Amino acid sequence: MVGVCALASCKKNKKEHKNYAFFMVPKDPDIRRQWQEFAKWREVKDYYCLCEEHFLDEEIYKRHPRPLLKKNSVPRYLKKSVYCNFELNYLRFKEQYSSDIIIIT
Ligand SMILES: [Zn+2]
Repeated sequence: MVGVCALASCKKNKKEHKNYAFFMVPKDPDIRRQWQEFAKWREVKDYYCLCEEHFLDEEIYKRHPRPLLKKNSVPRYLKKSVYCNFELNYLRFKEQYSSDIIIIT
């Protein structure tokens, strides 16, 4: 569905979350597969999108009129808002020094 986050546990929609950015699933097959693994989709439809909640802040260009997602960005947060800044900074620190993809469940 257009304008609805396609992550089953999220499902935010544009109507209720006007300030949220929504990003369409990428065309690159490799990156697309990583999105699929993250969101546990059985198959990926071209119109699937995820909201900004699942990406690092620095992967999003907050441009007007439409925010853009950095190329090759992969979703990694099931929910970003539940973490306080301290924890986020800690996770970023960890990310810098480890190659593991951190997925919080
Ligand atoms: Zn979402």
